[in-house]
Amino acid sequence: MKPIFFFSLIVICLLAYCDNKQRATQEINKEIPKDTIRERIIDLSYVYSDETVYWVTAQEFKLDTVFKGQTDKGFYYSANNFSSAEHGGTHIDAPIHFAENGMSVDEIPLEKLMGKAIKINVSAKALNNSDYQISIDDLKAWETKEKTTIPDGSIVLLQTGFAKYYPNKVKYLGTDERGELAVQKLHFPGLSEAAAKWLVENRNIHAIGIDTPSIDYGQSEYFKSHVVLLSQNIPAFENLTNLDKLPNSGFEIIALPMKIQGGSGAPLRIVAILNNSH
Ligand SMILES: [Zn+2]
Repeated sequence: MKPIFFFSLIVICLLAYCDNKQRATQEINKEIPKDTIRERIIDLSYVYSDETVYWVTAQEFKLDTVFKGQTDKGFYYSANNFSSAEHGGTHIDAPIHFAENGMSVDEIPLEKLMGKAIKINVSAKALNNSDYQISIDDLKAWETKEKTTIPDGSIVLLQTGFAKYYPNKVKYLGTDERGELAVQKLHFPGLSEAAAKWLVENRNIHAIGIDTPSIDYGQSEYFKSHVVLLSQNIPAFENLTNLDKLPNSGFEIIALPMKIQGGSGAPLRIVAILNNSH
């Protein structure tokens, strides 16, 4: 083989390789356009601020500035301390919150907090009745409409529509008073004890979430839905937002709470990722 021919062959092969590689990169970019990924992620968490809604007896969020500004060494520096009850704003209830031998927040397996999810929208009923309790029929109505049972291993999100009142405490909680006496003035929808029982006995869900301050409705005295769900190590996400932006199915959830050792709950960053078809 003449050297010039051999050299030409190498150049041709190299060009072909580069072209293929470029095409492969183009293919990947075509499959996942950047803007589409951004549009498919939906933030279901509220910010923590002075306005964050807490249970009427819980310590509210507090942010103290440690330092903010230029240092005498010539660089900018900002740092804060924060303090807060575990249960306030968008947060998780760990099973130990209402079940003595339940998991604490750091013990919840991550696979319970990530994966396929569904949304059950009862806002047409709940927005007219701040004492509304989501019933077994509401759960069954979703199954009839979607022509499937609630899939095994789902994260179930309940949309009451109450997020639209947040952070107006009178509308969202039923009262802007605080302390023990304010507990009886709480009015917001939740999941009925019967529906919670039906879910744990007849379906196999990984976690549950709601766009109100509690999985039990505001007038609950004994928090029975909490007891039923958390006793089965099914964690609950509370004070969710943006559920109106989700379809009834066809999305996944990533819900990562602060990993507090022994914690009964924790602040929660939760996002939904819509499937490609949406
Ligand atoms: Zn809670």
